[in-house]
Amino acid sequence: MIGILRLTHDLSDAELLACLECDDSSFVEELHAAAREACAQQYGKVVFIRGLIEFTNICKNDCYYCGIRRSNSKVDRYRLSKEDVLDCCTRGHAMGFRTFVLQGGEDGQLTDAFMCDLVSEIHRRFDDCAITLSIGERSRESYQRLYDAGAQRYLLRHETATAEHYARLHPKALMLKHRMNCLQDLKEIGYQVGCGLMVGSPFQTCEHLVRDLRYIKELQPHMVGIGPFIPHHDTPFRDYPAGSTDMTLKLLSLVRLLVPGVLLPATTALGTALGDGRERGVLAGANVVMPNLSPLNVREKYSLYDNKLCTGDETAEQLEKLRERFAGIGYQVAVSRGDSLLTKNSN
Ligand code: SAH
Repeated sequence: MIGILRLTHDLSDAELLACLECDDSSFVEELHAAAREACAQQYGKVVFIRGLIEFTNICKNDCYYCGIRRSNSKVDRYRLSKEDVLDCCTRGHAMGFRTFVLQGGEDGQLTDAFMCDLVSEIHRRFDDCAITLSIGERSRESYQRLYDAGAQRYLLRHETATAEHYARLHPKALMLKHRMNCLQDLKEIGYQVGCGLMVGSPFQTCEHLVRDLRYIKELQPHMVGIGPFIPHHDTPFRDYPAGSTDMTLKLLSLVRLLVPGVLLPATTALGTALGDGRERGVLAGANVVMPNLSPLNVREKYSLYDNKLCTGDETAEQLEKLRERFAGIGYQVAVSRGDSLLTKNSN
């Protein structure tokens, strides 16, 4: 099966299901090795870095899994000013970051005017950098304005490609169809897009994961964010177990083999769940890490799940340490924009 996957970059749904259900260790090791090889063929033994700026934890949505959901009154809410964000970029640029990811809740104050002004100023000051946005669902017109202002990439995890499952993770107002339409709009506008999912979110089955893989294969996104679900103690999902890191690693490998040119982050959630999660992710086919560039005094407040890493080697300040860790497994950290090979649009 791995041979077919390696050659054709596809498998039937039944075969994908069999891969997900098999935990024979030699099979899994062979899968990771094939994914590693496919990644090295595309990109070399290189890990790309993106500086993550979590610039607001204010959110109008009430996703059942997320620590910064509207109903969590215990969150100390913040929004960074334009100057604060520009300061993060200045620090990050000096450290070698050439991509900034601006992520936040769906904060009503993030108007097109505010965001376009921010994006165009980052674009003006750091013209050798790529700007990635991850601020949730917006109208096509809004996405177009942000693109015209200079944002070229957008991350919007689809969370699950099965509508009934989506409905168990979100309140009624949020719909999978709408989220998928957003991804389609972003793609048509010309963004490099990232979708993705949590592994082991409540009620998830392997059949759901097969549908996720099929959706990813069809969408051909430039990036796919995959991390384990980790419960947050002030959410309705507080008592559900964390997702499996082995399943997360397996999914990384399958996505790498289905879409070989994709950018795959070894996510903070994987790093939180496993001490050597970043390295294990890379050894399973991931090739991006997003160290935290947010100001120190807000990091703990962007708490999507319990014990989210925001200190140590995961942070931008510890880039040297991260470099050493990847060198230890034979990988180099790239200081470049790290565009996806799937894109013809590298402006
Ligand atoms: N508001 C933006 C950013 C969301 S936070 C948006 O809608 O895209 C980024 C991602 O964190 C989410 O897409 C979700 O997949 C992940 N996340 C949220 N809560 C989580 C949890 N409890 N465990 C693991 N990942 C979580």
